[in-house]
Amino acid sequence: MKQKKGLAGITILFFMLIAVAGLDGDSEKKDQSVFGALSDEEHPKIALTFDDGPHPIYTEELLDGLKKRKVMATFFLIGNNIEGNEEVVKRMAEEGHLIGSHTYNHVQLNKLSESKAKEEILKGCNKIYETTGVCPSFVRPPFGEWKKNLDFCVTMLPVFWNVDSLDWKLQNTEKIVKRVVKDVKEGDIILMHDIFETSVQAAFQIIDTLEKENYEFVTVDELLLE
Ligand code: ZN
Repeated sequence: MKQKKGLAGITILFFMLIAVAGLDGDSEKKDQSVFGALSDEEHPKIALTFDDGPHPIYTEELLDGLKKRKVMATFFLIGNNIEGNEEVVKRMAEEGHLIGSHTYNHVQLNKLSESKAKEEILKGCNKIYETTGVCPSFVRPPFGEWKKNLDFCVTMLPVFWNVDSLDWKLQNTEKIVKRVVKDVKEGDIILMHDIFETSVQAAFQIIDTLEKENYEFVTVDELLLE
């Protein structure tokens, strides 16, 4: 009998602890269901960005998956890689994704003279313009290295990132997803590369996971020009 009483006491204590923990952690979630539809603030916006494409196989595969999920992304294209892959770039533009430049030859801009750096950016832009009919407004500097004062020569906005997926290094879907999902927050710009199968699969899993947490995927202009 004595033993039974002891067990009952522990059981009651256990349920009390659960009740206290529940009150604390779930209060926000409960508010959402009480007030019905989610407001804008409850749909934190984030942006997926893909560098170094287009790739003849994986970019197409990525576009298929994004279309299926009705998600928009931003692509920073290497001008030289557009050669021979014009159709996939046209599709990208037609389906509403944002296209920016990643220079023509993937050069480190701060290692070049000002005129050479400017030439690289403009050549990359021209290739995008020839292919899509749209002049890009955004540039992602390769290696994240922007050249000081380049802002005065080109009318494009450099775009960096807050979350580095390290997809090029990991090349493992599960590890990429884990790395991105663990500390993503509102307004983040996620860096990925659509030149690896593992990155494309990781992007789909990141979308599916974060949409369950009410995240909304937007193109970078929506985050930067607000
Ligand atoms: Zn790059």
